[in-house]
Amino acid sequence: MKKLSILGATGSIGKSTLDLVERSPEDFEVVALTAASNVAALADAARRTSAKLAVIADGGRLQDLDDALRGSGCRTAAGQEGLVEAATGEAELVMAAIVGCAGLMPTMAAVEAGKTVALANKEALVTAGALMTEAAARHNATLLPVDSEHNAIFQCLAGSSSNHVARIILTASGGPFLSTTAEQMRSVTPAQAVAHPKWTMGAKISVDSATLMNKGLELIEAHYLFGLPSERIDVLVHPQSVVHSLVEFVDGSVLAQLGSPDMRIPIAHALAWPERIATPAQRLDLAAIARLDFEAPDLERFPALRLAREALEAGGSAPIVLNAANEVAVASFLDGRIPFPDIARLVESALEGNRRNGPSSLRDVIEIDGEVRGAVSMQIEERCV
Ligand code: NAD
Ligand code: MG
Repeated sequence: MKKLSILGATGSIGKSTLDLVERSPEDFEVVALTAASNVAALADAARRTSAKLAVIADGGRLQDLDDALRGSGCRTAAGQEGLVEAATGEAELVMAAIVGCAGLMPTMAAVEAGKTVALANKEALVTAGALMTEAAARHNATLLPVDSEHNAIFQCLAGSSSNHVARIILTASGGPFLSTTAEQMRSVTPAQAVAHPKWTMGAKISVDSATLMNKGLELIEAHYLFGLPSERIDVLVHPQSVVHSLVEFVDGSVLAQLGSPDMRIPIAHALAWPERIATPAQRLDLAAIARLDFEAPDLERFPALRLAREALEAGGSAPIVLNAANEVAVASFLDGRIPFPDIARLVESALEGNRRNGPSSLRDVIEIDGEVRGAVSMQIEERCV
């Protein structure tokens, strides 16, 4: 039985994780669950799984959480301290599934406590990749990729030496606007952007999939997880989302991992690793799918992917700036305050003006992140008046 903590238990990844855990109660003991502010969903999940600790990030909701869990035997906590407690307490395995840079502190705390970390929170690795992989090595923590592409690569690598790897190829569904013209993109709505053709996900990552920033963040994520330079990480658009990524070895062999587009497959892999557990995911019927298509990404229509590669290659603080500007821009787009193409424009202008040094500590990352958020928010504010 593994003692499991789920950071971001009320989100898309969190709920899929809970679904698997509740199907295999003999394999997992839930020690802690966290959420941003949804008290009802958090309390319900805590009762169902007999969690020992429930943490609400929004301190103003702690009283409500106490009320909701009265008599359940589940302890409650709030704020960053509570999140860190959930990440570092008695859990052996921590599912890091908070969205955005908000997940950085607790995810890093889990790594520094030497936990096995199932990592969905890609923004944590994008903003603090070098610090996090160094801390993992120092504290003997294991990072298991949950993102479907990185989980696919992890499975294909199966412990191969990195000097046997020629390159890795991340597949991208292309999102809802794969065949939308640049002209049409000016007037797409948040509802159209979050309606992903293949995956059901949280709102932020759905917009990232529509701009292809998600693939850009994944490029940076792959760099840190697998220690490969930008020129050995390729991106290939594959609209069916059946091939989740590929690894090409020096001898020309290419291995791919396939499966139906259901996040419960990579989540189950990370939860059970090095074993496997059953999932209810639909089995792949290749005869019914009949064909698999691949094409190169269009960097003109999807500049976010180009910007992410440039940020990876620039290094230093650039990935933090890219991520922070993107988080603010995506939130503004979802609020209906800026048009879709402005997301990449705001990111580009934040990167152009960046003269900040690379981070040498988590505190630096948080400081740069805060600064960029402030600057981009102000820029949006000025445009809107
Ligand atoms: P989501 O929006 O559905 O859920 C986010 C979770 O984080 C919720 O539980 C929410 O309460 C919590 N949260 C949000 N802001 C917080 C804050 N400030 N402090 C504490 N907790 C906070 O997001 P998701 O789609 O589940 O994605 C989670 C992470 O996994 C993201 O980093 C995303 O990129 C990554 N990911 C998701 C998918 C997917 O299929 N959804 C696939 C690959 C990777
Ligand atoms: Mg992915």
